[in-house]
Amino acid sequence: MKDKRVMKFCPRCGSTDIFWASGLPHLWGLWECRECGYRGPFIIEDGKLARKIREDYLKKIQKNEDY
Ligand SMILES: [Zn+2]
Repeated sequence: MKDKRVMKFCPRCGSTDIFWASGLPHLWGLWECRECGYRGPFIIEDGKLARKIREDYLKKIQKNEDY
């Protein structure tokens, strides 16, 4: 399936709820994820990979609830 729009995913949780938090003019901007709080220059555009990350992330969350 081809989609002209490139989807962007958080590399930590696979969420699409990310936004570009550009910094000061001379600094690199960062991507920020609203869901897991990830901040960094790296995101992924591979939907399949994102789905896998998402699954792993949700599993981790469930485990962490045992605390
Ligand atoms: Zn995230």
